[in-house]
Amino acid sequence: APKIEIKGLSKVYKGRNGDVTALQNTDLTIRQNEFVCVVGPSGCGKTTLLNIIAGLEDATSGSVRVDGQDVRGPGKERGVVFQQYALFPWKTVLKNVEFGLKLRGMGKTERKEIAEKYLNLVGLKDFAHAYPKELSGGMKQRVAIARAYAVQPEVLLMDEPFGALDAQTRAQLQEELLKTWQTEKKTCFFITHDVDEAVILAQKVIIMSARPGRIKEIVDVDIPYP
Ligand code: ADP
Ligand code: ADP
Repeated sequence: APKIEIKGLSKVYKGRNGDVTALQNTDLTIRQNEFVCVVGPSGCGKTTLLNIIAGLEDATSGSVRVDGQDVRGPGKERGVVFQQYALFPWKTVLKNVEFGLKLRGMGKTERKEIAEKYLNLVGLKDFAHAYPKELSGGMKQRVAIARAYAVQPEVLLMDEPFGALDAQTRAQLQEELLKTWQTEKKTCFFITHDVDEAVILAQKVIIMSARPGRIKEIVDVDIPYP
């Protein structure tokens, strides 16, 4: 059975200056432990598609199933990394990473332990008590990644997570992501505008076209993984 199954998905934004069709009749199936990258011009509906899979936005029509269940709002099996970190500025790095665990009712000691483990993984152990404003862009993005990993989601939904980073940091985080994907058998849905990045990361590259937003082509990347 597919991990993610999207059928006839459409999204129309109603606006004062008319409607915008962000997605039109999109079908997509993603297997368990598959790594999919989505590329396409700005405005073609990539973020809309991710947000609907994440349960952060409702579709106008069509269905999204994860593990055979209709998506209704966010769920613990789906972790999201946004383009712009979305950290709480008034919380320390550690508290930011603990947040999702706290929401799920996990006790103090256990969530601290898990948050520290994932901060360690992204190389930020020494910054647990710092605040987001004290960190560089790359470090903030690492915190956002640690926060998503900490809830140990089976599905990682990532919206241009490395777009704002310098080349070296990006390469490092790409490598760490591939490692996590392999060892923890994650299913990854990763948006990028960088075709090179898509080919480095993905087994399958989904090319979207704008107006109306739809999947134009799906390309298998036949690169053996180390
Ligand atoms: P990107 O192309 O990187 O996804 P955009 O600048 O197109 O970023 O959009 C950023 C966010 O702003 C979108 O995810 C969406 O929620 C919101 N947005 C985009 N276009 C509109 C619009 N016309 N009206 C209201 N909100 C919008
Ligand atoms: P992408 O991520 O590929 O840049 P988006 O999914 O952000 O594309 O946007 C797809 C289309 O929907 C764009 O035309 C955008 O302007 C529009 N859009 C996105 N969010 C909103 C919103 N909240 N209200 C109105 N239009 C939106």
